[in-house]
Amino acid sequence: MIKENLADVERRICAACERSGRSRSEVELIAVSKTKPVEMIREAYDWGIRTFGENRPQEIRDKYPQLPGDIRWHMIGHLQRNKIKYIIDRVCMIHSVDSLRLAQAVDEEARRHDVVMPVLVEVNVAGEASKDGVAPEEAEMLIRQISTLANIRVQGLMTIAPFTEKPEENRVYFQRLRKLSVDIKAKNIDNVNMCDLSMGMTGDYEVAVEEGATMIRVGTGIFGERDYNH
Ligand SMILES: *Cc1c(COP(=O)(O)O)cnc(C)c1O
Repeated sequence: MIKENLADVERRICAACERSGRSRSEVELIAVSKTKPVEMIREAYDWGIRTFGENRPQEIRDKYPQLPGDIRWHMIGHLQRNKIKYIIDRVCMIHSVDSLRLAQAVDEEARRHDVVMPVLVEVNVAGEASKDGVAPEEAEMLIRQISTLANIRVQGLMTIAPFTEKPEENRVYFQRLRKLSVDIKAKNIDNVNMCDLSMGMTGDYEVAVEEGATMIRVGTGIFGERDYNH
């Protein structure tokens, strides 16, 4: 099943790239393996996937030693400051920084491990009350503040668009994130590298690719529905 799903996702990414005149190499597929057992991750790995996303620090800590060392793990979910220590030397990027307090805590832990952690600032583009992320108008200020921290490097923006059955409805949010990224990039803030746009999930990644996503986070479309009850 994973093999067929991966082939299908790959085909759709390529088609979306073609429709929008982009190269497939501009888009990184992050296989979101949260709640899924290491056997399934291993299977995706065997089909060539090297980039995985998880949203719980303890899950990354537990899965990490059971899987090959060349996997690039991305922390994509809400992060509490006291859990940073579980992931700081295991992940290659944190997608969910949305406050200075969290950024300072990541910076401190990164300094302790002598690394510079690439991060994305999570933006709540649709203004949904239930979602994490800074408001679009607050993103630049937060990025300016983070840019002064030595052991954390802003690489771009991330968003979780609203859940919808109609992916076209999310196009406007992806366009908004892209525009925000372009505007902030134009400010040429020191130590800030607005090169990544993490947007698009199983329901809407094709639209996200058309609108400029450089990273898409696909879980269900690769591993099937999640079961949170076991
Ligand atoms: C779970 C999750 C995804 C993947 O969702 P699917 O709809 O299963 O593709 C992507 N991004 C984040 C932040 C998630 O928590």
